[in-house]
Amino acid sequence: MEKLKSIDIPFDIHKIRAEFPILQTEVHGHPLVYLDNAATTQKPQVVIDSLVEYYTQYNSNVHRGVHHLSQLATDGFEAARRTAQQYINAGSESEIIFTKGTTDGINLVAQSFAKAFLKPGDSIIISAMEHHSNIVPWQIVCQQYGAELKVIPMDENGELILSEYDKLLNDRVRLVSLPYVSNSLGTVNPVDLIIEKAHKSDIPVLLDSAQAIQHLPIDVQKLDVDFLVFSSHKVFGPTGMGILYGKEKWLDLMPPYQGGGEMIKTVTFEKTTYNELPFKFEAGTPHIEGAIGLDAALKYTQSIGLENIQKYEALLYQYAIEQLSTIDSLRFIGQAKHRAGAVSMMVGDIHPFDMGEILDKLGIAVRTGHHCTEPVMNFFKIPGTIRASFSFYNTFEEVDRLVTGIKRAKAMLS
Ligand code: PMP
Repeated sequence: MEKLKSIDIPFDIHKIRAEFPILQTEVHGHPLVYLDNAATTQKPQVVIDSLVEYYTQYNSNVHRGVHHLSQLATDGFEAARRTAQQYINAGSESEIIFTKGTTDGINLVAQSFAKAFLKPGDSIIISAMEHHSNIVPWQIVCQQYGAELKVIPMDENGELILSEYDKLLNDRVRLVSLPYVSNSLGTVNPVDLIIEKAHKSDIPVLLDSAQAIQHLPIDVQKLDVDFLVFSSHKVFGPTGMGILYGKEKWLDLMPPYQGGGEMIKTVTFEKTTYNELPFKFEAGTPHIEGAIGLDAALKYTQSIGLENIQKYEALLYQYAIEQLSTIDSLRFIGQAKHRAGAVSMMVGDIHPFDMGEILDKLGIAVRTGHHCTEPVMNFFKIPGTIRASFSFYNTFEEVDRLVTGIKRAKAMLS
């Protein structure tokens, strides 16, 4: 494994780490080891600079001003839309809608799609490994419209049981919504196959890509996915910003989610006509600096290259699994063949929270708990897990520090 550390690394990891100011800091007297990237990622200097530049040089509202600053702000905002379009290879800018994040994007589709298409007796399919944000919005609309929520089960490895999925597909299913990558198990779902099966029955698919966008190259046209959502903060951009991709043919048929400025063409007291896509779904002053920061973040990520990131992270992930496996009584929660990003584990019967607290004192940031996936924890009959989640700026040495930290905590807690 020593050999792995020096070969095949497709970028200069030290240069990359130097671009993230927070990675130079210390926590409790130790150099920070940040392994909570599934919760949120750190920001490179170029993203931080883009926000400062916006506020110091062209802060202004977008779309409605003829003055210079407003034009600059509009240009920056709309450039971000084009960058996002290109990043996921969407066919048109009108298919890129700015949201507050993954949760907001799912709520938008749930409310608007259900209003147009969901009838009593219909069903929506989700999976056993959902983040709460891909459960609750669908529960709400199913209650509103008298529809049923159905769940693709998973096995002990944390892999979806596709033969059961086949059985759920029928002509009352209106939509399938599932995660590309699970945030608590790391499972990368076979989304091509899942989409293909749904499309055979003309059922659209939404991919929650909150945990995929920073790890895998995504091509919405190749996937032929109908809706795809992600959060900017999971891909090195600011919080409060996200993207909803939707095929124009669906978005055109869906009513606005919220009313207000920007989303209208004309308003009288009697009648309003709605704006065209994508603005129909963007009521009110948007998160302008969020879009500008996201633009910088996506460009930065592209400059490193998703293929390079994927290659490096696969080596790092493999190394982490191998090294963590040397810890007595450690068991992995989720052992799917294809995994990325997050590694979930339990050590003996030590409560994940106690382990997390000791690791924190050693400067190691991991997440403990249910990770907003309570049904996953219920399935495995555990209160929560210790989750280490990686990014391309993490190193093999940091994996070593995690392993040493867990061994030390285990000795203290056993
Ligand atoms: N889905 C998944 C798979 C996630 O990991 C997360 C964030 N943990 C979300 C949805 C929600 O993302 P946000 O809180 O940014 O809306």
